[in-house]
Amino acid sequence: MSFNVEAVRQDFPILQQQVNDQPLVYLDNGATTQKPNSVIDAITNYYRCDNSNVHRGAHTLSDRATGHFEQARKTVQKFLNASSSDEIIWTKGTTEAINLVAFSWGLSELKQGDRVLVSHMEHHANIVPWQMVCQRTGAELVAIPVTDQGELDLNAFEALLDERVKFVSMVHVSNALGTVNPVADVIELAHKVGARVLIDGAQAVAHWSIDVQVLDCDFYVFSGHKLYGPTGIGALYGKAELLNQMTPFMGGGEMIETVTFAETTYNRLPYKFEPGTPNIAGAIGLAAAIEYLNQLDRQQVEQHEQDVLNYALERAEAYEGLRLIGSAKQRAGVLSFVLEGAHPQDVGMLLDQQGVAVRTGNHCAMPIMDFFGVPGTIRASFALYNTRADVDALFAALDKAKRLLF
Ligand code: PMP
Repeated sequence: MSFNVEAVRQDFPILQQQVNDQPLVYLDNGATTQKPNSVIDAITNYYRCDNSNVHRGAHTLSDRATGHFEQARKTVQKFLNASSSDEIIWTKGTTEAINLVAFSWGLSELKQGDRVLVSHMEHHANIVPWQMVCQRTGAELVAIPVTDQGELDLNAFEALLDERVKFVSMVHVSNALGTVNPVADVIELAHKVGARVLIDGAQAVAHWSIDVQVLDCDFYVFSGHKLYGPTGIGALYGKAELLNQMTPFMGGGEMIETVTFAETTYNRLPYKFEPGTPNIAGAIGLAAAIEYLNQLDRQQVEQHEQDVLNYALERAEAYEGLRLIGSAKQRAGVLSFVLEGAHPQDVGMLLDQQGVAVRTGNHCAMPIMDFFGVPGTIRASFALYNTRADVDALFAALDKAKRLLF
């Protein structure tokens, strides 16, 4: 059976509404995706029936909550094909996961003369934490150049790789351009000089299956809310060997084994990195989102999404006065552009008035905006429930915006 997008749309109640008297066309999935009923139900059922603190083991509700919470961790483990659920650490999202690695790993491993490489197309979440840690340790943060097409310059990357490089942190899919980076090559090349590699999967996990063992990355991070799950929950995958060596980034309850005023010993993985009461409902909601995706044919989903994106690219290329930002060959989920002579924000407002939700601005990726010489772009970003009709609605709304602006 082929992918039935109309049936899928019925699973997302928020899509069935009018915004500004027009049917909602939601094209801001790069910022956050909408949630299917099964995710909303999983969260409300948890609060209705099982709400309790986890790992306290004192009563039935707590046991139940703990069971669901740890089952959710296993769901994430399978989703990424990690070899053990001990390698899955709950975080608030991608940002916290990168900070965890930058501070836990970086503060103890980096020193003067070392280098951390990030690409020129990173989200601020994958620049600023490394900058902070480099400032403290005396290591140097170096940006890997991109080409005029907005692709990673692999030759330049190879030229940068030497024994000074201790860490490479790179986005899998750029949220600002949609470029898909050749992360398997990046990981292999970085490992040859003994560097560790983190992949920021925030914009990738919704689009295709990830296998961290095949990739052989040291860390992989993502946010639940960009994967049809709730906000405030995400995950860090890390190789157990590395996580075991790392010192926790935050202290508190749950992450300890014993505490005296003289000394604290830490809990085993994964709890060592999870101080305080976790986002239990969030973890359960995220697992429900993964289960939602799992009952679909992910290859069909990917094909459908590529078809919608290719159609959007075709229309964009033929559209007068539109300049695409980034023209990578491998891309996913994102159409980033400017209209000659119009401020992206004005265009965004005029689209919103017609029920079309896009994001405008620098997309938390100022360095790549500077590279392309624009203060920001208009970004339409697609999810599995978007259709070619949504693309047509976007361009019809752009026609009207142009008439109003010029
Ligand atoms: N990296 C990328 C590529 C992103 O798209 C985002 C979210 N826009 C982040 C990191 C940060 O994710 P979060 O805000 O969920 O922590």
